[in-house]
Formats: sequence, structure tokens, C-alpha cells
Amino acid sequence: MQKAWSNLVKLFLHFWFPRTCFACGRDLAWNHQAPLCPSCEASLTAPGPLICQRCGAVLKSGGAHCYACRGSKTRQYKCALIRSSFVFNTSSRALVHGLKYARADYLARYMGKLMGRRFAQHPELAGAEVLVPVPLFPKRGRRRGYNQSELLARQLARHIGLPVDTQALARVRNTVSQTKLNRQGRLQNMAGAFLCKRPFDIKGKVVLLVDDVATTGATLEGCAQALRAAGAKKVLAYTFARE
Ligand SMILES: [Zn+2]
Ligand SMILES: [Zn+2]
Repeated sequence: MQKAWSNLVKLFLHFWFPRTCFACGRDLAWNHQAPLCPSCEASLTAPGPLICQRCGAVLKSGGAHCYACRGSKTRQYKCALIRSSFVFNTSSRALVHGLKYARADYLARYMGKLMGRRFAQHPELAGAEVLVPVPLFPKRGRRRGYNQSELLARQLARHIGLPVDTQALARVRNTVSQTKLNRQGRLQNMAGAFLCKRPFDIKGKVVLLVDDVATTGATLEGCAQALRAAGAKKVLAYTFARE
């Protein structure tokens, strides 16, 4: 009876406020749950089949590592591994931008669920003990009202059964926008931008950083530097999308 009522309410709402696909704008069926239509959802694609063993970047030709991670360079990174659920395409971009810029915080539930489902595809992340979302600079977080990485981490945590630590890491320096910087510039921009405020919570642990997008991995590297300096045993990273 309750189900029938809830369906009736949904049908009524659909009539007055039809929901549309977040990516392509097509109308969604009245009983469709996800924010993407079935074809946009189907277009969400995992990176690969060939990816860099360290940073997870899609490799066009063979080899184990991308140019930036090749040879002895791999060992210099404090972030040991970066893995992502999906490549950046029209559908994943719509979700990331919606969560980040359109105040569509409800998307985190769906995105975190997808991240949780795809998590098992990356057995190399299985040793993680605690999730740490990439923090925002406080002023930026206040303006948006939430930190999108924290919302994703909390949803992901529900699916993979790990604790979330939102207090361990802080962004202590506001960084300039990364879009115009090259790889080296991005790494320098992020060095020293983060600080581990609670080393005792992190010491000796395998930390899994969570963020919405990885581009060059500079932000994740900045976080990993702070966490390793505070005594983290290992730092891994998992993002929703890979640019
Ligand atoms: Zn669509
Ligand atoms: Zn790489």
C-alpha cells in the first residue's frame, strides 16, 4: 500500500516537474532513479585497458608506465597509486561539474555508489584502511557549502566499509587555478599546500585519498606528501573520473 502511494506521488511529481538526464537533458521515465538516462549511464567508461601502473593515466601504446612515471621517477612520488572509476567524457564530466559547480550535492550519492561498485576492479587498492577526502581551502568550502570530495568519500565508505577521516588533512594555502599550469607548475603549486593536522590518526596507516577528478595527479601528490610526512605507511588515491 505504501509502495503504491509512493509511486502515485512520483507519478504526480513527474507530471508537474519532469526530471531530465543530467548529461543529455532527455526526459527520464517517472520511475527512473539515476540522474543519468540509461544510454548516458552506459557511456560511462572505465579507463583502459592499458593504464599507467602508477598514476592510472590511459596509455595509448604499450608499456607499464606513462612518461611522467617511467623508470626511477615512480619511486619519487609519495602517492603510490592513482586509480579512477571512469574516464572523463560527456557523461562523467556532467556529473563532476554538477557536483562541483551547480550545487547538485545529491549527485554524490549516485557517484559514490558507482565508485563503490567499481572499487573491486582495483585489487591494488584493497589494503586501504582509511578514506581521506582531498580538502578544500576553507574559504572555498564555505562558498560552496560543501566539499565534493568529502561527499564522495562518505558515500564510497558506505559501500566499501572503511572509515572516513575528514579532520586529518587540511589545505593550508590557497592554490592558484591549475588549468593554465603545466605538469611541473602544478606540482610546485601543490607542494606545501596541505598539512596533516592529526599525525597520530594517520601514523602507520594505508590511506586512500578520495577526489572527484585526477588530471596530472598534482593535488593528490600534494596531499600524499603531507600524509607521508606525518607518518602514513602508504598513500593510494581513488577518483571518480580521470582526465
Ligand atoms: Zn542522457
Ligand atoms: Zn603515470
